[in-house]
Amino acid sequence: MKSLKYTAILILSLALTSVAVAQRHSHNSVQASFHSYYHRQQIVIPDVCGYNVYTAGLHTHTIYSDGQVTPLYRVREAWRYGLDILAITDHIEYRPTENDMLRYMTGYIKDEYSDRPRGVNTNVSRREADERGIIADLNVGYETAKTANEKFGLLLIRGAEITRGDNHFNVLFTKDNNKVYDADIEKSMRNAIDQGAIVIHNHPKIDKSTETQMTPLAESLHAKGLLSGVEVGNSFHSWDHLFRYAIDKGYALISGTDAHSSFDEFYYQNGNRSTYPNMTLVLAKRCDEQSIKEALVKGRTIAYQNGKLIGREEYLLGLFNASVSLQHMCDTRRETMVIITNKSSFPYELRYNKHNAVVHAMGSLQISLPIGAKEVEFEVRNLFVGKGEYVKVKMAVQR
Ligand SMILES: [Zn+2]
Ligand SMILES: [Zn+2]
Repeated sequence: MKSLKYTAILILSLALTSVAVAQRHSHNSVQASFHSYYHRQQIVIPDVCGYNVYTAGLHTHTIYSDGQVTPLYRVREAWRYGLDILAITDHIEYRPTENDMLRYMTGYIKDEYSDRPRGVNTNVSRREADERGIIADLNVGYETAKTANEKFGLLLIRGAEITRGDNHFNVLFTKDNNKVYDADIEKSMRNAIDQGAIVIHNHPKIDKSTETQMTPLAESLHAKGLLSGVEVGNSFHSWDHLFRYAIDKGYALISGTDAHSSFDEFYYQNGNRSTYPNMTLVLAKRCDEQSIKEALVKGRTIAYQNGKLIGREEYLLGLFNASVSLQHMCDTRRETMVIITNKSSFPYELRYNKHNAVVHAMGSLQISLPIGAKEVEFEVRNLFVGKGEYVKVKMAVQR
C-alpha cells in the first residue's frame, strides 16, 4: 500500500515536471516564432454561384528573368497582400540578370565565347537562340519559391512567359520549363500544353483597324484552341475594347500585375487608387491545381483592376448579390429610406436616377427612394461586361 502511494506520488511529480517542461518548451517556441511574423491583408469575398472565390496573381517576375526581387520575396508578398494563388512567370527568352549572376561568380566560371562570363542566349526575344539553345535551368525560380512557400501555403503555379517581340504569352501549370523553348512560338506553346499547361495571352496588341480584335497571330492561335485566357488588365492598363470581345470568344478574363519590382513600389506608388494589386478572381470548388486549371479553362474568372471588376454577367451579378443586401428602414412623409450593406472587400459604385453613390467595402449606405418604392434598379459602375457596359441590378424593398 505504502509503496503504491509513493509510486503514485512519484508518477504525479514526474507528470507535473513534464507538464512544466512542456509549458516552458511551448513558451520558448512561441517566443521563437515571434522572431519573424507577417501581416496578411484579408480580401473577403462571399461564395459566388456555388463556388469559392480565390484570389490569384497569375503574372509575376523575379530575378530569374528581368525582375528585381527573389522568388522567396514574391511568395511572402503575395501572401501579405491576400492572394491565395501565385504564379511566377519568368521570361524564357529574356533573362538579363543571368549575366550579373555570372559576373558575380567570375572566379568559378570560364566562358569560351567572351572574356566576361555571360549567360547563354539570355536575350532571344527578337531572334532565334543559337545552336547552344537555352541552357539555364528555368525551373530554379519555381523551385526556390516552392521551398519558401512551405511557410505560407499558397497554391503555387509553375509557369513561364513566352516572349517574342510584341507577342507575350504565359504558360501556366508547366511541369518542366526547360522543355518549353522552340524557335517557333506556336511549337513552344504546344511544348507547354503537352505538359498539361494552359496559355494566357498577355498584354495583347490590338488590331488598330478594328480596335476589338487581337493580332492575326493571336487570332490564329485562338482559332486553333491554344489560348484559354487573355489579360484585360495588366499593370496600369486595361483593354476596355476587349472586355465584350473576350467574353464572347470564350476567354477567361485575366488581370495581372506583371510585377517586376515589389507590388508596393511598382504598383501603389504610381497613382493606383485601388487597395489591391491586379488579380484574377477564380471561381472554383477547391484551391488546388486541378480545380483552378478547370476554372480557367472554362472562363470562370473575374478580372480585378484598379477598382474595376470585369467578367461575365452571371458571375458579376452573383458576386454583387452575394455581397450586397438591402433593408427597408422607414417611410417618411416624402421618402422611403433604405440601407444597403456590403459584406465584401470590394466597394460598389451605384448609379440610380443620375445620382452616384458608393457602398464601401464592409460598409453600409443609407439612401432615400421615392415614397412607397417596392424595387430599385442600380447600374453598378465598376462591374463591367463591356466597354462602358455596366451590370444592372434590381433590389426589392421589402417592408
Ligand atoms: Zn510580357
Ligand atoms: Zn511579364
